[in-house]
Amino acid sequence: MNERELLMIPGPIEFDPAVMRAMARHTPSHVAPEFIEVFGRALDGLKQVFLAPDDSQPFVVAGSGTLAMDMAAANLIEPGDRVLVVNTGYFGDRFAAICARYGATVDELTAELGDVVAMDQVAERLGRNKYKLVTVTHVDTSTGVRVDVSNLGRVAREHGALSVVDGVCATAAEEFRQADWDIDIYLTASQKAIGVPPGLAILVASRQAIEAFKARKTPVANYYADWNNWLPIMQAYQERRGSYFATPAVNLVMALDVSVGQILAEGMEARFHRHQLISDAFKAAMSALELKQVPLRPAIAANTLTTVYYPDGVDASLLGRVRKHGVVVAGGLHRRIRDRYFRVGHMGVVSASDVLATVGAIERALAESGYPVKEGAGLSAAQSILKAL
Ligand code: PMP
Repeated sequence: MNERELLMIPGPIEFDPAVMRAMARHTPSHVAPEFIEVFGRALDGLKQVFLAPDDSQPFVVAGSGTLAMDMAAANLIEPGDRVLVVNTGYFGDRFAAICARYGATVDELTAELGDVVAMDQVAERLGRNKYKLVTVTHVDTSTGVRVDVSNLGRVAREHGALSVVDGVCATAAEEFRQADWDIDIYLTASQKAIGVPPGLAILVASRQAIEAFKARKTPVANYYADWNNWLPIMQAYQERRGSYFATPAVNLVMALDVSVGQILAEGMEARFHRHQLISDAFKAAMSALELKQVPLRPAIAANTLTTVYYPDGVDASLLGRVRKHGVVVAGGLHRRIRDRYFRVGHMGVVSASDVLATVGAIERALAESGYPVKEGAGLSAAQSILKAL
């Protein structure tokens, strides 16, 4: 493995050295006073990262983002409940499958490839039936499309539904205000813009979500994900008491504490703005190279990653050429276009220089693939935007 390789995929991302040092530290007991303080502080900090209401409840559990999705569905759905899945790609399909597994009747509102579903369509659909919850993928990592969820909470409340947003490829990078936007669950994983190696499922639930959980008539069908097991544990650490249900991923939690501290030191507004600029710069570079992107309009393109079609005559062998220049980018994920595009992640500690290194590597790899590249065109377009950083 080349340790000087730059990892520019949409998760896992590059991690800050201070975060990695926390991973390498001596592992304390999960009930040692110093670990209790670290876990409690990380939970408190996450609420600030999510701009969540004071009475919301954070959960951090060993597992990946899929577990966070599973936890939301397992605890909120009872057999026979109706769920609306707003589907903008691969992870919408996954959410629909998870909800069905817990006995929900699932309706999907599926966007055209590269497009989003308008919120008035969501409202219209929520008005047709009594839905228990509606799920939206904030940024679908397979298409690079971002849904504007600023009105989702209000629309869901008006129809008596809970709102669940999958922020795995968005949280701590894309603008999100859980309190102001009144979203019931925002969920994510550690390995993306939260900036911690893979292994933590993270979510923050509103008071209303917890009340809906407490009002269940049937037991939660998933033992590990059951909030009856986790609520007392999370509350204990928040109150700086040790407690045990299943062993926490101690070093990952210590790394999370470091990363959350860094995120809050940068400030959420500054962080949203930096991700916007980095993304604008990278996308401008791709346009300058006359490469087409998957999102149908710039306004719905995510800031956390860029999804780019290969130009005519170029195929997935481009990825190997980019890697020879020291940068790792990802192949396609969406079933319908898997072999026709590639994906570049730019979130977390990503810098202007990382963007330039990536654009430079792509320019060279394209030229080697026989694509007529105007040398430096992408770099120049990126530079002119990165100046503002
Ligand atoms: N949702 C989205 C939007 C994702 O990007 C991912 C991971 N790429 C997941 C869910 C699933 O997360 P994990 O791979 O950590 O289980």
